Amino acid sequence: ENVISKIAAGQIAVSPSSVVKELVENSLDANASTVTVLINSPFNFKVIDDGEGIPFKELPLAVERFSTSKIENSEDLLKLRTYGFRGEALHAISLFSRLVLKSRYYLEEIGGVIVVKGGVVENYEPIPFSSGTTVVVEDLYFNVPVRKKSVSRNEKQRMKNVVEDLAIANEGVVFKIDNVTYPVSSKMERIYRVTGKGFELKEKEFLTLFYKTKFDGSSGRVKKIFVNRRPVVSKEIAVLLRKHHIEEYILFIEFPPSEVDFNISPLKDKVVFKDLSNVLRNLESLLNKNLYFLPQ
Ligand code: ADP
Ligand code: MG
Repeated sequence: ENVISKIAAGQIAVSPSSVVKELVENSLDANASTVTVLINSPFNFKVIDDGEGIPFKELPLAVERFSTSKIENSEDLLKLRTYGFRGEALHAISLFSRLVLKSRYYLEEIGGVIVVKGGVVENYEPIPFSSGTTVVVEDLYFNVPVRKKSVSRNEKQRMKNVVEDLAIANEGVVFKIDNVTYPVSSKMERIYRVTGKGFELKEKEFLTLFYKTKFDGSSGRVKKIFVNRRPVVSKEIAVLLRKHHIEEYILFIEFPPSEVDFNISPLKDKVVFKDLSNVLRNLESLLNKNLYFLPQ
């Protein structure tokens, strides 16, 4: 592996929580109806899905850099509905761990396994496999001790939080996170199960806002923004919500893919709106219309 490839990979596999996020996103992209995440430790964990699987002869491709089945050309970026598109995650993870990828493509009779440790393929063979894909990450950062040392003491909790965020955004998918199961439910119910809190709901066109105008004092303050099911950070939106005395919130924004750009950073947690002022204007009017009594 060359240096550039390792540096790029380092930006994706920055932490165990970013690794688990990539894996769960892949399961969702594969249209899984159940995603199971078992976290033994921040360095040993697995993600099991019942999605469409990977054809046997494509297993080596899946762990190659810049190899994605999700887009074919740059125009596809404008209609992107999947979480993944850069084709870097599995490759990056395979450089820094022993990665065991087992899968059976739904149109094939037999499954397969590929094992890659530190970028070197240890095994690649057909195996009988039920269906879907299982990715086991073993000994993450075994070859980068500095990074291993820098992993946070609450990393296991962070990993769970990252998966819970994806569970909130995908209420139609069953999630099992260690010993907790989230069944298919309404968005309101899924949010309640994950956060333990009930919210008020306001909707307008492309905006769905679950909110509380009073902080209930329990656990942490919930403040989440999703754009097209992706958890994102937006200072402008956070400021506007604060101005309107929204103490806790989960805001979902749904846009045509061509109106938003996530291809800003490898972690895809930044979003650029083509028309941010339109987003803010609509949000403002939603807040004004619904939260305050306007005198006639
Ligand atoms: P990307 O998600 O950007 O395409 P990844 O490195 O995360 O890149 O995955 C590479 C490819 O491996 C994907 O494009 C997909 O074809 C395949 N793949 C990875 N994980 C799964 C999964 N859980 N189910 C089905 N296919 C998968
Ligand atoms: Mg991916």
